[in-house]
Amino acid sequence: MKTSIATVSISGNLVEKLEAISQAGFDGVEIFEQDFLTHDGSPRDVGNMIRDHGLDITLFQPFRDFECLPEPLRSKAFDRAERKFDDMQELGTDLVLICSSVHPAGLGGIDRAADDLAELGERAARRTLRVGYEALAWGRHVSDHRDAWEIVRRANHPNVGLIVDSFHTLGRGLSPDTIRSIPGDRIFFVQVADAPAIEMDLLYWSRHFRNMPGEGDLDVTGFMRAVMSTGYAGPISLEIFNDQFRGGSPRTIAQDGYRSLIALMDDVRRAEPDLRVDLAELPGRIDIDGVEFIEFTARDEEVEELTTLLDRLGFRLSGHHRNKAISTWQQGDIRIVVNSESEGHAAHVWNARGLSVCDVGLRVASAADTVTRATALGAAPFAQPPGPGELDIPAIRGLGGSVLHFVDEESGLARVWDVEFEATSDHAAPSPVLRSIDHIAQTMNYEDMLSWTLFFTSIFNMTKTPMVDVVDPDGLVRSQAVQSPGGAVRMTLNGAETHRTFAGSFAEKHFGSAVQHIAFSTDDIFAAARALADSGFETLLMTANYYADLAARFDIAPALLDRMRDANVLYDEEDGCAYFQLYSKVFAGGLFFEVVQRDAGYTGYGAPNAPFRIAAQKHGGRAKGIPET
Ligand code: MG
Ligand code: MG
Repeated sequence: MKTSIATVSISGNLVEKLEAISQAGFDGVEIFEQDFLTHDGSPRDVGNMIRDHGLDITLFQPFRDFECLPEPLRSKAFDRAERKFDDMQELGTDLVLICSSVHPAGLGGIDRAADDLAELGERAARRTLRVGYEALAWGRHVSDHRDAWEIVRRANHPNVGLIVDSFHTLGRGLSPDTIRSIPGDRIFFVQVADAPAIEMDLLYWSRHFRNMPGEGDLDVTGFMRAVMSTGYAGPISLEIFNDQFRGGSPRTIAQDGYRSLIALMDDVRRAEPDLRVDLAELPGRIDIDGVEFIEFTARDEEVEELTTLLDRLGFRLSGHHRNKAISTWQQGDIRIVVNSESEGHAAHVWNARGLSVCDVGLRVASAADTVTRATALGAAPFAQPPGPGELDIPAIRGLGGSVLHFVDEESGLARVWDVEFEATSDHAAPSPVLRSIDHIAQTMNYEDMLSWTLFFTSIFNMTKTPMVDVVDPDGLVRSQAVQSPGGAVRMTLNGAETHRTFAGSFAEKHFGSAVQHIAFSTDDIFAAARALADSGFETLLMTANYYADLAARFDIAPALLDRMRDANVLYDEEDGCAYFQLYSKVFAGGLFFEVVQRDAGYTGYGAPNAPFRIAAQKHGGRAKGIPET
């Protein structure tokens, strides 16, 4: 399978783009005319530079407003085409994309278009070049790939073929299955893009909101299944116009693109095993059974601060590492690791961010398969040399320097706690009030959200929930969750657009994405609240206004409302299913814990409560002298 990406999909100058594209693992690029016109060098120089990066030029594009013009415009269009052919030969590429005309003088007519393309094919053949015809979703007379195919069929020239683009087909709501009846060898090139389901003008949507397959809501897998069923064996190329990507990091966007393309074609192969997809075997999306551990890096008095808080939450010290300054704290199914080492990954994270989450361990069926799939999708494996007697736990780098470890039963890796740690005597709390981890909340810049969503949903068997807006008094925060079936692992990804928001200020201080809060689940929020209060835990205080608002929004029995008010418990519901929450005060400049009681039918995270929670945290922050912005 030949992977390709249009240079227009990512930011930077041409050299930066090519470096990022080549490092991400692509085989080729579509060269966009602008790239090539703005670069200081001849077409031949540009072609050589691309090949020096180990990349082929899979396509030259676009050539617009060609077909069905009246004279003298028609002759001029052919002259223009000849000049493009000159450039293509200099560049060293043999295929040009002709997109269906939007020219106001265009006459239309399937046969007229076919005749024009046949003549262009004849001219291209003289130079051993090929032309591919694409229906733009907003083309003046041709806006449907079925019409474009009919034109190509009637042109009946070996150097004229069809180009299909998932956006133009799916964006117009056309069934991709109509592609299945087109001969694969008449399809010269395939472009893929996804897009979020937003009602807007097609052209505007296409130019600004396309995103990587899997990042949006279009059935790109259905589209590629149809394409592959034709026997198509040419390049599969990303053509993404997205304002955010144009301002993003070339390397991240290129890596996301590569990840999305491999995951897409792996999905196609799994959905239709009889299709020939030329892609190395890789394990399917990884099922996650739960969170094995969450590791904090902390030093000196921070250790005291964190472990006091854990103790008040009902955690008990359960083990000390045999060789290192690492301890474990447990309660129910939850294991928190506190790492004070001055070397290794935890130390690097501490140097950059201070007290923070430096590592998350996930329970999977096979840790080895997980690393294999993740690296096939472009993630970097992570390793640091194990000390004597220590297990080498498979791990990968997440985004932004984070690390994920994988623990399984199969390979005995779950024994790590017995092998590397010495158990303390008061191993478990007498009766744990907290049961398991309900969700892990990661805060990041808004631009990074698509990358993180794609990271989780392409490597793991996780689905994304619709994005919700969380109103911070100082700006908007977008929140999207990714979760495994049944909710064994839930992550909320919170993207801040401004540093003035509580989340944004946290992201700024932590140089990008970091875990900001961890929510533990309990079976009885009021029993938990009592136990926590008895141990000296300080709950985030909610205002009387909050409870007045609750009473107005929901039909809550007065006695229950009183209990909530007394215990500073927050409430939300969905189809009659309840969600109770309480929060810790903020510590270490923005971190906090949450305790939740979730009815099985409640699928959210209490987003309607977030503005109240954030206001209380900002207020609490001021009172305790924590810098607020
Ligand atoms: Mg296209
Ligand atoms: Mg939460």
